[in-house]
Amino acid sequence: MNSGLVVTIDGPAGTGKSTVARLLAQTLGIHFLDTGAMYRAVALMSIEAGVRPDDASAVSGLLCGELPDFDFEHELPRVQLGSRDVSARIRDDDVTAAVSPVSVHPAVRHRLVELQRAIAARWGSLVTEGRDQGSVVFPDAAVRFYLDAPAETRAQRRVEQLRAEGRRAEFAQVLISICARDRIDSTRADGPLTRPVGAIVVQTAALTLEEVVARLLADVRARATTAGRQ
Ligand code: C5P
Repeated sequence: MNSGLVVTIDGPAGTGKSTVARLLAQTLGIHFLDTGAMYRAVALMSIEAGVRPDDASAVSGLLCGELPDFDFEHELPRVQLGSRDVSARIRDDDVTAAVSPVSVHPAVRHRLVELQRAIAARWGSLVTEGRDQGSVVFPDAAVRFYLDAPAETRAQRRVEQLRAEGRRAEFAQVLISICARDRIDSTRADGPLTRPVGAIVVQTAALTLEEVVARLLADVRARATTAGRQ
């Protein structure tokens, strides 16, 4: 099952999208694309250039030069800025705080959407996750999912994930940060976080990671079988 299959997974922070997308892609034998990492790389570029994340023209101007890229040679694709591997750096708190303000700028979104479509065209098949993948970037994808969970559950998961990575994390702070990002992401004019019409909605709070992956895999296989019969 690896020719021309695009699967999109959207949803707010902390629903487990990245891990689910990676495991699903692994099982299907195709690449996975973490589009949040691309927006995080742009946020890092703005921090390093001393540009305010809410300065639309200055942030957009940064994309005239070097663009974020992925090294797909690794099982967990590495995020590159030029020859630099920024995969870990883009998870730091300063980048997390700057990423949603950077992501509202239409010129930034336009450029990254172009890049995401170019990556899909290059690989043919992809599991891609983000906020606008099923609604804006790949509305004709074979299967589109929307993962959701209450903010408290998502914050608790994020705390556990950060601590497992050896980072400091306080529940109250993480909850505030997640709610702030939800608000900016779902109210922006361009590519807001939304449940794409026709997407399969999966509530993940009561499910283990393995159960979510199994559920998505069953849906992908069912759709692929149906499409094969048509
Ligand atoms: O998925 P992750 O939490 O790493 O995404 C970081 C941020 O990137 C999101 O909060 C959102 O502001 C932005 N983003 C976006 N569109 C996407 C993916 C992420 O605006 N497709």
